This record gives sequence, structure tokens and C-alpha cells, in this order.
Amino acid sequence: MADTLDIKISKTTTSKLPETDFSNLPFGKIFSDHMFVADYDNGEWKNFEIVPYGNLSFSPAMASLHYGQTFFEGLKAFKQKDGKIVVFRPYKNAQRFNLSAARMCMPALSEEIFVKSIAALVDLDRNWVPDAANHSLYIRPFMFATDPYLGVQPSKSYKYMILTCPVGAYFAKPLKVKIENKYSRASEGGFGFAKAGGNYGGSLFPAQEALKEGFDQVIWTDGKDHAFIEELGAANVMFVIDGTLVTPSTRDTILNGVTRDSVLTLARNWGVPVEERRVSVAEVIEGLKAGKLTEAFGVGTAATVTSIATIGYEGELYHLPEATADQFSSKALKILTDMRYGLAPDEFDWNYVI
Ligand SMILES: *Cc1c(COP(=O)(O)O)cnc(C)c1O
Repeated sequence: MADTLDIKISKTTTSKLPETDFSNLPFGKIFSDHMFVADYDNGEWKNFEIVPYGNLSFSPAMASLHYGQTFFEGLKAFKQKDGKIVVFRPYKNAQRFNLSAARMCMPALSEEIFVKSIAALVDLDRNWVPDAANHSLYIRPFMFATDPYLGVQPSKSYKYMILTCPVGAYFAKPLKVKIENKYSRASEGGFGFAKAGGNYGGSLFPAQEALKEGFDQVIWTDGKDHAFIEELGAANVMFVIDGTLVTPSTRDTILNGVTRDSVLTLARNWGVPVEERRVSVAEVIEGLKAGKLTEAFGVGTAATVTSIATIGYEGELYHLPEATADQFSSKALKILTDMRYGLAPDEFDWNYVI
């Protein structure tokens, strides 16, 4: 595929912009005026189009509905103080998009098509990028199998699409989470590292059970013995133990987050000791008891950096020290935010200007 992307653009005649209340933007419910659509057929991507946001029509036998051959990405565009619009590290998402595609027997998409399709859509709907503090345009690329066939086999046809949603500030109320010791999100040899639909479908029930017990989220543990920490809901998890930033190393059960990589890069740049390794539940509980574990937080595109206030395990609740502005996670959140909004230098070249 060539570098240039020939996109047919059909603009809406009735923008929803005037009637949209930008002071009330529940996550993922309000969609901007347009969406991107492309088809995969006969071994190639074609029909690149931007059309008004709206419903599509499919066969009820469509393969993705029955066997979950579908996956997604999530990234954000920010409006900077001079009006410039930037997308945060889209090439990282492009790489992960293709890792997910390969694991799900779905076709790759060139990084150029991925990034340029996002750029074209965000550019057309640039007035949908909110400018209030901590607001952004959430970008949801996804791919799904479209063969009208009930046999269990990889589909031959697919759609690649992008939706965008203006989203408000993530009200970072510190979380009360439970270390999960019954259910698992992913297993060795499975596809936990892919942003595939089935991983999230299967996580709903354990999350609902935890909610009933009064927790906001679960900390997933390994599927074999529930002895090692893996992730926090749909975010990666990090701890500060004795002044060292500790996070589970990525493996086939863990989603390799862009935010995770960004926070680790910042830490290393600041000279904070970093350990990416297996992190046992026992070590976390001991650290909490001894007061050596001083910070626990989730990192992800939707959640940015969200601190954990309370960790529940086997009927006990462990409380973390109250967050301060000079602790690692607060500083990481501030600098990441400032870089995205153009308030701090983009020293790692993370912003892709639209
Ligand atoms: C998306 C996601 C993350 C975070 O990844 P980012 O690239 O930082 O948004 C972490 N864990 C899971 C399970 C996810 O789905």
C-alpha cells in the first residue's frame, strides 16, 4: 500500500456540534459527526471512506458476532493551548493493532494507513476536540470479521473502522480495588496481550462481582495460581516499593500499554529505579503491611494515571498513604498531561500533529 491514502469523504449535512453539551461528556456515549470505514476483501484493504456517523447493516451470520473475531485500539487527541491538535503516540497503537490482528488471524494494516486514517478523521472533526482542561477526543479504531458464515474459521472479509468521542476529565477518585483470587482475565498461551473483544466480555462478570462487594475494579492475577499480579481492570498496574517503581513485565497474558511505556520512560529519564519483573501478590501484601509499598496506581489511555487508595485481599483491606503532589505517580500524571497539552516540551517526540 502506498503512503498516500485515498479517502472518499462524504460530509454530514446536519452537524450535531451545536446541540452537544461539552460540559457533560460521559465516556464513550457521544460520537462526533463522522466515522472512518474501510473494507478488506480478496486480500487487500480498499474503499477508504469517511462518512457521517451512523448505523451499518450486516448479515446476522456475520462471523464476528458469533466467534468474537474482533479487536480494537484506544488513543486520544488533545487540543493544545495554541489550538494545535495532537494525537499521542499513534504509531505505538499501530504496532499493537497488528499484534492483535495477527493473534486473531486477521489481516494487518500498514502503520501508515492506521495513522493517516486517524489523522484524516480527526482533522475533519477537529472542532470536536474539546479544549477544556483534561478533556480530549477519544479515538476508537477497530476491526471485525464480516463473512456471513457460521463455520468456525477465519473470515475472509473484514471492516476496519474508527469512531471518535469527545470525553471529559477523568475524575480521578482514588480507587478501591480487590486482588482477584478466583477468576482470571487471561491465561498463558491465550490472547491477553491482544486488545481482542473476548478479553473484555470475559472480564465483565468478575468485575460485576467485585462491584457487588464494594470494589471499583479488580487487580487481575495469573490464571494458574493467582500468585502474581497482572493488570488493573483495563489498565496496567504499577507500585512504588521502597522508592523503586515496580510493574509486572509484559507477557502473553498482559496488554502492553502505551501509557505504561510512557510512564516507564519518564521514570528512567528521571533516574527513578525501575523494575519490570514478575510481582507476587505476597510481596504486595507484605509491602502494604510493612508500609514499604507507598504508591499503587493504574496507567492507561482512558484512566491516564489513577491512584489506588485501598487494596482488598482475602477479606482484609489495606489502605495506602494519602496521595501527595510530589509522589511519583502525581508527578508522572502532571508531566504527561502537560506534554499532551503543549504545556511542557515534547522531549520524546510523542505528539503527532494533525
Ligand atoms: C488498553 C488496555 C491497557 C492500557 O493500554 P494503553 O495503551 O495505555 O491505553 C491496559 N490493559 C488492558 C487490558 C487494556 O485493554
